[in-house]
Amino acid sequence: MTTATLNRDAKSTFFSDKRGTGLMRALVFHGPNNIAVERVPIPRAGYGEVVMQVTLTTICGTDVHILKGEYPVRSGLVIGHEAVGVIHEIGPGVTGYQVGERVLVGAITPCGQCNACLGGEWSQCGGPIGGWKFGNTINGAQAEYLLVPSAQANLARIPDELTDEQVVLLADIASTGFSASESADVQLGDSVAVFAQGPIGLCATAGAHLKGAALVIGVESDLARMAMAKRMGADVVLSPKEGDVVAEIKKLTGGRGVDVAIEALGTQATFENALKVLRPGGTLSSLGVYSGKLSVPLEPFAAGLGDIKIVTTLCPGGKERMRRLIELVQHGRVDLRPLLTHTFLLDNITEAYELFTSRRDGVLKVAIRP
Ligand SMILES: [Zn+2]
Ligand SMILES: [Zn+2]
Repeated sequence: MTTATLNRDAKSTFFSDKRGTGLMRALVFHGPNNIAVERVPIPRAGYGEVVMQVTLTTICGTDVHILKGEYPVRSGLVIGHEAVGVIHEIGPGVTGYQVGERVLVGAITPCGQCNACLGGEWSQCGGPIGGWKFGNTINGAQAEYLLVPSAQANLARIPDELTDEQVVLLADIASTGFSASESADVQLGDSVAVFAQGPIGLCATAGAHLKGAALVIGVESDLARMAMAKRMGADVVLSPKEGDVVAEIKKLTGGRGVDVAIEALGTQATFENALKVLRPGGTLSSLGVYSGKLSVPLEPFAAGLGDIKIVTTLCPGGKERMRRLIELVQHGRVDLRPLLTHTFLLDNITEAYELFTSRRDGVLKVAIRP
């Protein structure tokens, strides 16, 4: 099933494997600080699987952790976990999709059938963090083609009027960022502080706004990110370089503290500050990935008597999650395109990694075109 109908998007190179070599270009991880674009076999769709031709992908902070050797994956793995593309091959057992359809697949690809999935813990499919497969346990998205497992549960159609750029960030950072306010059950009129305005924090800011928070306070010291936080829905942005953000947040909430504090960096300092700005009974919603040891300071935790809730969330995935996020974009509730600050070809992706890691030139997210 490799013949395809004509793709509407004239800019897309629908068949890059025109010569029928059976090979594609992909970014392969060979060990810490050792990645390269190489030719590897184009995957074939087995039972329940779909091969999509990737038309747009991006680089995540998690990929940088992999590159630095801070998160171990096997040598030889194609990395990346965010992909928009066109269905190229449909394996047996997948129904209701057609070759040539434009689809979005989440970074997290739950099987939809295991106990964790059926218990509603999609991201923990099959075991701890088990929903994260692309560029972790199976080949990922920084490639011309991507093999999608459990495709029936994971492919969301993209409406014709939406571009790849409008939806690519839904796969991971938007789903993750928005989930912070969903997991904290933000109520209409709540006050929410979001610590760190990197790509995920910016999406968390947008998510707090979407969930009906009355006051969204961003915390960030980088000037470009401070400005972007306003654009994504922050009412106030405080810089830790310019004063005591904990005191300032208390002041902004009339001394009460915020209903929800979102941690979007993964450090002891931001975790502690998030605890310190909470009202009694408030919720700390943690998105950061921590390393080493994380400790809970007793005073802001009221020695365990403050009715504080601490919740964590791994990026929600699956086609229904992606469909809902696409609806938000389609109906103009959120526009993530400003976060895509740079574009690179897949052939130059190592330069894109260098830029993304350096945080030069106001970079937030890089769009990668295979
Ligand atoms: Zn990611
Ligand atoms: Zn599962």
